[in-house]
Amino acid sequence: MLDENDNLIRCSLRGKFQKEYELKKDKLYKLDLAAVGDFVEYEKNADGTGVIYKIRERKNYISRKAPRIKGASYRGERLEQVLAANLDNLFIVTSIRKPAFNNRSVDRLIVAGESSHLNVNIVINKSDLQKKNEAEEWKNFYEEIGYKVFIISSKNSEGDFDGIHNILNEKVTVFWGHSGVGKSSLLNILFPHLNLKVREVSSYSNKGKHTTVTSLMEKVKDNTFVIDTPGVREIDPYGITKENLGFYFAEFKPYINECKFNTCTHQHEPGCAVIEAVENGEISLERYESYLLILHTVEEDLFF
Ligand code: GDP
Ligand code: ZN
Repeated sequence: MLDENDNLIRCSLRGKFQKEYELKKDKLYKLDLAAVGDFVEYEKNADGTGVIYKIRERKNYISRKAPRIKGASYRGERLEQVLAANLDNLFIVTSIRKPAFNNRSVDRLIVAGESSHLNVNIVINKSDLQKKNEAEEWKNFYEEIGYKVFIISSKNSEGDFDGIHNILNEKVTVFWGHSGVGKSSLLNILFPHLNLKVREVSSYSNKGKHTTVTSLMEKVKDNTFVIDTPGVREIDPYGITKENLGFYFAEFKPYINECKFNTCTHQHEPGCAVIEAVENGEISLERYESYLLILHTVEEDLFF
């Protein structure tokens, strides 16, 4: 962790913070493990290392459903794993080709960002590889919903990098993207002379094995931090229910209160204003299909 003078202090966690989960009488209990971005209280050891004894209350955080642990009974619940805390922005980094732009994956990440109340932005990298104006079409698509979209080529150093810097300034920003899209290349352009101050937090991977996932938080300027989550490919956001999912689709919000039933999940209920908006072309079919796909995964999770 970093102290108030930006010194990097290697810390361990005291007692009850050490294990992420505790198995008691065949039931799992979640323990509060420090996550990257946490503000902590610690004691200094004589050798300069520290021991964390308190994690301060989090403004917000992103989390996902934790892996299932062998030998525990779940009774339908999945535990929550905090990936990063006290955040302002999410940058979803994608590429237009190699790998191909995947709007389903973008929509899942938007849901994760919206459910944690983050300011969501999208980067479409590798514009040098596109054939027609594919990237511009997706930019218009997401900007119409209200998200800022930056088309860049990290390879050619083309794009509105100043615009990205303006959003990052004095904020804590998470960068998220599938491997190979060029997230590292982008970070290197944004912060070429970065003297990395890196914090590491180990967690479990979603394979259920104890392989390490590392989140890195880098202080890039005064009050400006970026978090990279290199080990995390997909997230399965925690706390999303079929009742609240629609609220994380920003363009659905004006219609949701107009649905006949306040428990409407916008699938086939009569008097659904969201479905009507899809039929009128006010909500795009693409986004509505993403909504249904995520809704089905949320519903399946209820029946473990
Ligand atoms: P990461 O896994 O998301 O961190 O991606 P990297 O930054 O490691 O880049 C993955 C690959 O894509 C590397 O071979 C890069 O050289 C390449 N790459 C990154 N940005 C661009 C770009 O704008 N255009 C092209 N054509 N290739 C790129
Ligand atoms: Zn509805």
